[in-house]
Amino acid sequence: MSVRAADNSWTDVAAHFAATAGLAILPFGALEQHGPHLPLATDTLTAERVAAELADRLDAVLLPAIAYGETWNNAGYPGTVSLSPATVTAIAVDIGRSLVHSGARAFAIVNGDWGNRAPLTEAVRILNDERDIPAIVLDYPGMDDAVARLRESRPAFAGLNHAEEVETSIILAISPGLVHPDRYESAYPDFPDDFGVRPMQLHPFSASGVFGDPATASAAKGDAILAATIDASQQVLRDFLAANATA
Ligand SMILES: [Zn+2]
Repeated sequence: MSVRAADNSWTDVAAHFAATAGLAILPFGALEQHGPHLPLATDTLTAERVAAELADRLDAVLLPAIAYGETWNNAGYPGTVSLSPATVTAIAVDIGRSLVHSGARAFAIVNGDWGNRAPLTEAVRILNDERDIPAIVLDYPGMDDAVARLRESRPAFAGLNHAEEVETSIILAISPGLVHPDRYESAYPDFPDDFGVRPMQLHPFSASGVFGDPATASAAKGDAILAATIDASQQVLRDFLAANATA
């Protein structure tokens, strides 16, 4: 069973850390455009769901989600609000350092946004160097395999799931009321030759911010993708806890 830090008292959190492996889980999301049919919090909602399930399965303390991330390349779409990479790193490092005083003995970050990958890896490196609390960041292990199995539409670009079948399915599974099926559109932009190599803004070649086709999205697919991601993440965290268990 998990404890949600935001909904409980300090004594409840302290007791839970003391009685368990002392794992704290932080969902790290983004406020980022996901086309005209999905909410700006898509990545935050997804990370929160994965983190909450993991916290339940691993008796962890679930921290409130970070609702902003590094999403500079979506700056051309209003509503998107981005942090700099250094800020993302600093937030994660500060939270990790602070958790030590709470009695936490392991720190896992569930990352929901592509732009957070490099800065969160840097944060985990800093924390592990300091040796006060073992830290790990999860970039949805298991999701790519599930997507390869379940996806019916053609991806707009290899490895890119953005506001198309995959992300629409996930939000249909988590919070269907936030999805606007009447606004679905299929979009296969012409990518610049150096896409993926050079940091670039997306709006010059994608008017809607959709990359692919949401038409075949379904809640059932979203549930299956989430389940596979949660299972694989749980295994990674089990190994992480075992490797860092103090005798
Ligand atoms: Zn997303």
